[in-house]
Amino acid sequence: MSAAAHLAPHGSVVLVEMESSLAYHTTGRSASLLVVNYGGKGSVPLARASRSFLEDPPNYTIDVPLLSDRGILWVADEFGLVDLEKFAEKGRASGAGSELIGPDEVSTLVPAMNRDYVAGGLYDPSARDIDVAGLHQAFVRVARRYGAEIRTDSSVVGLRRQNGGWVVTTRTDTITCDVVVNAAGAWGDEIARLAGIEPIGLQSMRRTVFTVPGHEEYAGWPMVVDVHHHFYFRPDGVQLLCSLAEEAPSAPTDPQPRMEDIALAIERINQATTLDIRTVNSEWTGLRTFAPDRELVIGEEPNAKGFFWLVGQGGVGIMTSPAYGSLLASQILRQSLPKHLADARVDPATTSPARFRHCRLGRIARRLFSR
Ligand SMILES: Cc1cc2nc3c(=O)[nH]c(=O)nc-3n(C[C@H](O)[C@H](O)[C@H](O)COP(=O)(O)OP(=O)(O)OC[C@H]3O[C@@H](n4cnc5c(N)ncnc54)[C@H](O)[C@@H]3O)c2cc1C
Repeated sequence: MSAAAHLAPHGSVVLVEMESSLAYHTTGRSASLLVVNYGGKGSVPLARASRSFLEDPPNYTIDVPLLSDRGILWVADEFGLVDLEKFAEKGRASGAGSELIGPDEVSTLVPAMNRDYVAGGLYDPSARDIDVAGLHQAFVRVARRYGAEIRTDSSVVGLRRQNGGWVVTTRTDTITCDVVVNAAGAWGDEIARLAGIEPIGLQSMRRTVFTVPGHEEYAGWPMVVDVHHHFYFRPDGVQLLCSLAEEAPSAPTDPQPRMEDIALAIERINQATTLDIRTVNSEWTGLRTFAPDRELVIGEEPNAKGFFWLVGQGGVGIMTSPAYGSLLASQILRQSLPKHLADARVDPATTSPARFRHCRLGRIARRLFSR
């Protein structure tokens, strides 16, 4: 939707979605946090560049602000302190205003943390909750305002080149266009195969989230994340949203929660806190899809003019979406890098699909050279 919103003012855009509603897959299943300084070298600048849109989107696109205060608190037991310090160092290098704190300060921030468990914390007050539905709707409003057409129940089943452009076949339709944007999330490589394009090697990873009864006193807590990613939890209205923070490989699919993952998350959270969780209100699983180097993949396929990738958003695809929509649109329109992206030090080479093609070209060149 971000790509459609950024492209719609400049041409004729059709967005095709295989499900009967938008954001049914990963986008509707996220933990909805903005944490700028702890991603990969491609995603940190994109998150930084997205901040201005998230803080101040065009008035007509939203009903309520997209961001609200949250903060993030990484916690470690005695075995995690060394990694917590390394993590703090990484954050400082990319400009994080976070600070290492002791068990007393951790308890002040989140009184339910178990004093026998916590050896230290790293607190970043700048993290924000994102209203994901509101952000998605903001992109829908921009796209529609500029005439983009959105077709649901439209699964892409064929993609071929014709007269320098593309023919996209869906279950019900045929669309001819100059440019195709492959923003199919976990199915990104499948779309490439339909077009006869070499896949990137995307890998989807399951992550399960569930809600449990909370309390209004918890509302001001930051999100609490175990530094080894053994669990996380955060207030979500009057509930707590919890996760095992697992990364289990999966094929592209509509993943369902596994009870053993939820049980293990509850066991770990109950060990680390005094929350004594016993009831689950709701649960879901989403797929976080990564390129082999875990950076986003944004840009034109070197081997297929007019085929643009927008995949591999992993666990950062909400907070970086305003910037990557803008980056992708500038590439399709053959424009220079927009100023707000340059100011945030976005480097298109880091996220270009060309990085996966050099090796192959190199191999071919080496083979030719050796003959
Ligand atoms: C548990 C969890 C927590 C997360 N927390 C955060 C967070 O705190 N902050 C953050 O920034 N990010 C977070 N993320 C990551 C974020 O949700 C994703 O990076 C982002 O939603 C990816 O968006 P997408 O549009 O690429 O994928 P999707 O939302 O999956 O969209 C891809 C779409 O393509 C459609 N499609 C696929 N194949 C076809 C076809 N053949 N024809 C037509 N349509 C097709 C699918 O139906 C789907 O709607 C989290 C993810 C999970 C699972």
